[in-house]
Amino acid sequence: MVRDSDDFGAYAGGRLTIDLDAIVANYRLVARRVAPAISGAVVKADAYGLGAARVSPALYAAGCRHFFVVHLEEALRLKPVLPDDAVLYVLNGLVEGAEADCADAGVWPVLNSLEQAWRWRDLAVARNARLSAVVQLDSGMSRLGLSQTEVEALAADPAFFSQTRIELVMSHLACADTPENPANAAQLARFNAMADLLPPTPRSFANSGGAFAGPLFQADIVRPGICLYGVGPITGAPNPMTPVVTLEARVIQLRTIPAGVGVGYGLTFTAPDARRLATISVGYADGWPRRLGGVGAAWFQGVRLPIVGRVSMDSITLDVTALAEGALKAGDFVQMIGPDQPLEAVAADADTIAYEILTSLGHRYQRLYLSQGGLASSDGNP
Ligand SMILES: *Cc1c(COP(=O)(O)O)cnc(C)c1O
Repeated sequence: MVRDSDDFGAYAGGRLTIDLDAIVANYRLVARRVAPAISGAVVKADAYGLGAARVSPALYAAGCRHFFVVHLEEALRLKPVLPDDAVLYVLNGLVEGAEADCADAGVWPVLNSLEQAWRWRDLAVARNARLSAVVQLDSGMSRLGLSQTEVEALAADPAFFSQTRIELVMSHLACADTPENPANAAQLARFNAMADLLPPTPRSFANSGGAFAGPLFQADIVRPGICLYGVGPITGAPNPMTPVVTLEARVIQLRTIPAGVGVGYGLTFTAPDARRLATISVGYADGWPRRLGGVGAAWFQGVRLPIVGRVSMDSITLDVTALAEGALKAGDFVQMIGPDQPLEAVAADADTIAYEILTSLGHRYQRLYLSQGGLASSDGNP
């Protein structure tokens, strides 16, 4: 008999624990903070790597009804795990040829260009149905959405608004994590001026940073992502969110090397004196940044264990000399992300942002989901 892949998770090189209660607490904090505006949730990129099929139902149970993904494919995968009154939005727009699948699934595309708007309208006319959608305006980030002249062209076509059902007008902030940046107020003014050209429609402007930037930015619906996953929405400010992720790596071998012996690919580290080393079963193929070689660390019982030498594809060597001899054994787990080493600290060491660390973690770990204070389930390796 072949066992389900979930059974094998215990053999993985590391375990990723995702606290669904913490995600729910973070959602509730945002929802309270932005009321009377409504909080949706951004669950793109598999809920920032944490498992959209697990995270989204937990958010739904907490009252979330607006779920933002990036691709229609992500929306179609999520659709069956959410009740019918959950709205799924496709942020990157309406890909040519996707119109019928999008409409059939009741997914709301974000129309980012006139061309997309006309294709959606043409389908609505052909089906004799007012199909729901969102219009995105480029308020100054120059990434996605209608320009000033395009929004004027749309406004000049009132039939478009009776043939379709534009549920929301949205835009996106370029500098939301730095609220004092004057670009935010400039974008807000521009967004509102552009939206004023269109028939009255609910508005959405704020990501995590914007949701904490005050009522003007919150508009009618906010779109928090990263803060739901435990990362502080404002750069440099105290983090009001509850941590969500713990990552632990399995120790697979220990050794002692004398002075002068090198470690890892390229032998980039040479022991200056006798060192005790531990090799752990996580590497860059598990999303642990290669640039943390010689820079980052893992932790065990409150002791920092520096990474020595390069990060390999499937393993990392730690200097564990600071631990008492025998304190760490093969089969033990060391902390990579957790109370001793928050996600933000890993990102800073790797010279990147927490978003990139989270979304890189991948599916090689055993995944443990915590809910209602206990272990909800464990997903093995696919
Ligand atoms: C990713 C994204 C968000 C969420 O951003 P966070 O900074 O993670 O809160 C919101 N809106 C749009 C359009 C996005 O692409």
